[in-house]
This record gives sequence, structure tokens and C-alpha cells, in this order.
Amino acid sequence: MNERLILSIIIENGPLSRIELSKLTKLTPSTVSRIVSSLQERGFIEESERVQTNQVGRKAIKILATKEFCSSVIFNVGVEKTEVAVGYLDNSTEKVEEFSTKKPELFFKRVKKAISNVEKKYKVLPERTFLVFAFPGIVNVYEAKIVYVPNLDWKDIELNRVLDEPYKILADNEANLSILAESAFSQDVQKAENAFFLYVSQGIGGGAMINHKVLRGKNFTAAEVGHTIVESKSRRKCQGRNQGCWEAYASIKVPVNAYEKKYGELKGKTYVEKFEALTELYKNGDENAKKALKEFIHYLSVGTLNIVNTFNPEVMIFGGGCNSLWKLFGKEIYGEIKERAMPHTLDNVVFRDTIFGSTHAPIIGANVLATKETINTL
Ligand SMILES: [Zn+2]
Repeated sequence: MNERLILSIIIENGPLSRIELSKLTKLTPSTVSRIVSSLQERGFIEESERVQTNQVGRKAIKILATKEFCSSVIFNVGVEKTEVAVGYLDNSTEKVEEFSTKKPELFFKRVKKAISNVEKKYKVLPERTFLVFAFPGIVNVYEAKIVYVPNLDWKDIELNRVLDEPYKILADNEANLSILAESAFSQDVQKAENAFFLYVSQGIGGGAMINHKVLRGKNFTAAEVGHTIVESKSRRKCQGRNQGCWEAYASIKVPVNAYEKKYGELKGKTYVEKFEALTELYKNGDENAKKALKEFIHYLSVGTLNIVNTFNPEVMIFGGGCNSLWKLFGKEIYGEIKERAMPHTLDNVVFRDTIFGSTHAPIIGANVLATKETINTL
């Protein structure tokens, strides 16, 4: 237990001296030293050069998580593209490559190729490195099984069986991994009892954190807000089997298609790229872009208020295919929900974009999942 405690503190807080570790864990200096030596011998942590710790001139050796081996090989599976990255115990990640997401047989063949590419370039260890998958759909996290990915129409796929790799496999929904990433790195989420990550991309997903735990539900569909209905009599279909779903009105595909239908093709190959081109036009005051985005902003507001009324989160985070949704449309969204919300519903609720900027939150979250698993299986 003490080993787990010390490794988790080093992973979460970065380089620390033995004295600092002793203070943080309330373990005696000799216990800390013994555990540090053991973790170091087994290659999980290493010592830094002596670094200046205060003005008096004392120099201390800091203990840090090792970058000797990869803690994870990450597959951030999008509807159009899959990104491959590696992660380390020190929480850093590095993008390796990307490929287009094809149907399952081709996809898993390509995944195996990506793994062998990684094996040539990085130090990966079957007994220590996790393969972590982020999916835009419903995942059985205990069995690493894809239950259903609506926008790809993938169903009932057991990753251990289709991949047959020596590595341990972890998998989760992209929005769940995003809220996990935020909870590891942003103080407002760490302090909050409840937080919500709204993942707006080709579909819409949600990650709810209730009392510091990701809410999964009986069949792993908790917080699947994209399939809540916003127009009950609508015939507009989502990729599932429902009609009038929120994601049929407020995914990034909707304004892109609306614009292209009326005003011509947008720059970019994927919806993510085209949506970015559309928001560029919007920022420059383009009237057509404004018209194409009007319905999207309206429905984004409606669904956001539904989430606020369901979860009443302390922190409501926007991200996904675009990491600046709140910066772009927050003023309009807030204006609309403020008019419709019950009194005090919005008091002290923080609305913001994800902190991860150009990095994709599920990639960070996937590595957090791997480091947590490393600690738990120590
Ligand atoms: Zn639906």
C-alpha cells in the first residue's frame, strides 16, 4: 500500500525529494527511503541530478517517474481518423502517427501494424505497457469490449480476442477519458464534487464525474447525452436507431453540412477540419457562417441546459472535435440558457473549454488510466 501511495504521489506531483515525500505521506524517512530504493530497482522511478531547492544553497536529489519505458500505447479512435500516441509514467504523451478509421477487420490489422511500428521506435514492455483505446461509443471497461459505436456501427467486439497481443488492454469512452484527464490535471475539477465533459464531435458524448468517480451506469451508457431527445416529433435520425436526438442537431456535422449545402465546400478533408474552417469564417464575421451556425448554437444551448438540469455540475467543460467551443460560442450559449434556467441553477457553475488546447483530452486520459492501472497492479 505504501509503495502504491509513493508511486502515485510521484506520478501526480512530479519530482519530489525524499524529505518532501516523507512530509506528504507522513511516512518515516527510513520507510520512504526503503520504498524509493525498491521502486527504483524495479525501474518505475529514477533520481534527478542534484537540484537547488532553496536560497540557502542546499541541493537535493529529486525522485521522478521514469521515462525509460512507455506506460501506454494509445489509440484515440475517431469516426474519421485514429491517432496513435505513447504515454509515460511522468504523464507526458507523444503523438506517433494517425490513420483513417476503416471497418473493423481493416482497422485492427492497421492497429497491429501501428503496434509493431511503436515497438521498433519506443521501449514497450508487454508486462508493463498498456494498450489503451478511446472510442466514440459505449465500452465495457471491465472486459475491454466495444459494446456499440453508433457512428461507426461497430458492435460487440472483444479487443483481447481480435488483437491477441501480449500487452494488457484497456478501453473506455472518449468523453469518460476526457473527464478523467481533466480530473488529473485541473484544480477546479479536483475540487469539484461533480463535473461534466461535453464531447462535441461527429457525434456528441458526455463524461460525468460524480464525487470523483466516472459515472458509468448499468450498461455503460451513462451520460450518453447525444442520444437524449431534443425534438420528440422530429424524423431526423441519428446514427443509432433514435430520431430527434441531440447529436442530430448539435454535432459538428450539422453546421458543416448546412453551410456546404447552401454556400459551397469548406476547406478540409474531415468534419473536424471543415468545422475549424467554418469557425474561422465565423470569427471573421462571415454572414453565411453565422447563419449556418445559428441552429447549432441554439441546440448546443438547449442540450447544455438539459445537462445542467440533470447533473448540476460545478464545472461544465466543452471539448471534442473543437477545443474552443466555449470561447467561440460561450457568450451566446450562456445568454440563451440564462433565460431558460430556473433561479440559482447557474450560480457559481463554471463553464469553460478543456485545458488541453491542441492536444486531445482522450489521449491524456488514456495515459492517466494506464498510470492508475500501473499503480493498482504494483
Ligand atoms: Zn441517437
